[in-house]
Amino acid sequence: MMEIKSFTNFEKKMGTTTDYFISQRAAELNESATLAMSQKTRELKSKGIDVINLSIGEPDFFVPNFIKEAAKQAIDDNYSFYPPVPGYPELRQMIALKLRRDNHLDYDPSQIVVSNGAKHVIANIFLTILNKGDEVLIPIPYWVSYPPLVQIADGKPVYIKSDFNKDFKITAEDIERHITPKTKAFIFSSPNNPSGKVYSYEELKEWASVFAKHPEILIISDEIYELINFTKEHHSIAEFEEIRDRVIIVNGLSKGFAMTGWRVGYSVSSKTIAKTIEKIQGQMTGGINDIAQMAALKALSVDPEDCHELIEMKESFRKRRNFMLKALSEIPGIKPNNPEGAFYIFPEISDLIGKKFEDFVINNDDDLCMYLLNNANVALTSGSSFGYPGCIRLSYATSMLQLEKAVERIKKAISQLQ
Ligand code: PMP
Ligand code: GLU
Repeated sequence: MMEIKSFTNFEKKMGTTTDYFISQRAAELNESATLAMSQKTRELKSKGIDVINLSIGEPDFFVPNFIKEAAKQAIDDNYSFYPPVPGYPELRQMIALKLRRDNHLDYDPSQIVVSNGAKHVIANIFLTILNKGDEVLIPIPYWVSYPPLVQIADGKPVYIKSDFNKDFKITAEDIERHITPKTKAFIFSSPNNPSGKVYSYEELKEWASVFAKHPEILIISDEIYELINFTKEHHSIAEFEEIRDRVIIVNGLSKGFAMTGWRVGYSVSSKTIAKTIEKIQGQMTGGINDIAQMAALKALSVDPEDCHELIEMKESFRKRRNFMLKALSEIPGIKPNNPEGAFYIFPEISDLIGKKFEDFVINNDDDLCMYLLNNANVALTSGSSFGYPGCIRLSYATSMLQLEKAVERIKKAISQLQ
């Protein structure tokens, strides 16, 4: 009898749904805005609506043939068993070689862990280093998943603001001002998603001198857009000897090799951190898909400067960026920024706030994205999703034909605002 009574109480608490079972951590988590917008686009497309998706950062190119061949070979060679948790030794060796060849950095393969894409790499890092309440400094605008990944690991994001008028760059002083006794780590991406900004050697050097004074802080350097950089060269903050032990490099094959769906990323850290990441990964996923690892091995064996497929992709991105910058600057109310890498433009749109189309008032950047989705059938992501309201993010990782069409549609929809 007792049992039935408690069941009734339990049912009352639950209501008619299973909401009761959802943890506070999960309930408080934001959905990924980029993935949500892409899902919305897929739904509209399935209804026959011709939506142009500029909301997701995903190269439209196919995986280069030499990489596909390596994957086919791996299947024929029976790569089908549980892989080593931190990645195949030959792949970790190849990553160490790549770091020497492309970045002039010396690491031992034991410092490298291969994970299921750079997002998984970052999740592993935060689970490895954060205790409850530890603070992680995150410059704004940030990639949408940084704050939720900190929160999943019980950490606290602390934001460092930047300004459209200062090229969205933060300075060494900005970083220093936000450091507290609880600061455990700092994470940033260069080239940056969403601003496309690239930090120079000199700028990183100034940051490094701040971190040199704070041996209690780890620096997480997200270099996933390393190969899509239109400045002279890519620099890693790991180049600075005095802080190298505390830098964790995040990289992967999703962007530079157009391998988003293959899910291969890697971290480069101290041996102790790498070992702990391996322990967490061993409990959560085992190792990473065998076949994708063999494909990644082949991909990283080429020098990007000698690989025509990679050179062509980068040149296409450059042409598209130049086209978009010119076309967007001709639309009243849209002020493009000046991206130097990745494949995003992050224009300021505050002149459009308060404008109306029929009964629909554009009160913020989210409204503008909704308006453009519904009235121009172009999907974008709001600046608010990246912590910077008043901007929108356009990904130009799609064909010129689609970009030309998208710009025409945006122009027309904006001209209808009053
Ligand atoms: N970091 C940044 C800055 C990104 O834009 C992305 C894009 N997804 C990732 C990490 C994660 O990449 P991956 O697809 O390898 O998980
Ligand atoms: N990084 C990409 C983006 O910003 C992919 C989507 C995601 O994983 O969030 O659009």
